[in-house]
Amino acid sequence: MATVTIKDKSFETYLSEETIQSRIRFIAGQINSDYKDGKPFFIAILNGSFMFAADLFKHLTIDAEICFIKLASYEGMKSTGNVVTSIGLDEDLFGKEVIIVEDIVDTGKTLHQFLPKLVHQQPKSLKIASLLHKSAATVYPVKPDYVGFDIPDKFVVGYGLDYDGLGRNLKEIYQLI
Ligand code: 5GP
Repeated sequence: MATVTIKDKSFETYLSEETIQSRIRFIAGQINSDYKDGKPFFIAILNGSFMFAADLFKHLTIDAEICFIKLASYEGMKSTGNVVTSIGLDEDLFGKEVIIVEDIVDTGKTLHQFLPKLVHQQPKSLKIASLLHKSAATVYPVKPDYVGFDIPDKFVVGYGLDYDGLGRNLKEIYQLI
């Protein structure tokens, strides 16, 4: 099993390039079938999802649009804590079939805070495609509709996901040793 070292941490291969790519082809097939009469609007959340979004999009045979956004959290004025806002979402989502593209759903907090802002725009439908899901760690009511891999609650890097800014370029996904 291959290992990589990023800064002070060692990681071992967890999902090979072929395993990831074949699963993405499968998910693209599901989306092609589920949206065969529609035109989904993908919203990919940067930075982590850029590789997944690109590979997934290549395998779509239906009409589809995509935009990339960045989420920023700031301390709200209220005592409820962080508020998540998006940068780069210029499109009006009213009546659209929206699919959020995420790298990983962990606790679910990010999407739980962000999704109401999209629902507010009254899309026709709103689904989530996440390459990875740490379902055992998910405490907020967020359930991805398309999941690449349900993984244990261990830190992973590669294929878009970083450790302290590095490791995103790896073709495989690695797990912290
Ligand atoms: P959540 O809000 O669901 O707890 O976390 C979502 C975000 O946390 C992801 O988009 C990702 O940026 C980060 N994250 C959660 N788990 C991991 C992990 O194992 N590795 C990396 N690189 N990022 C993670």
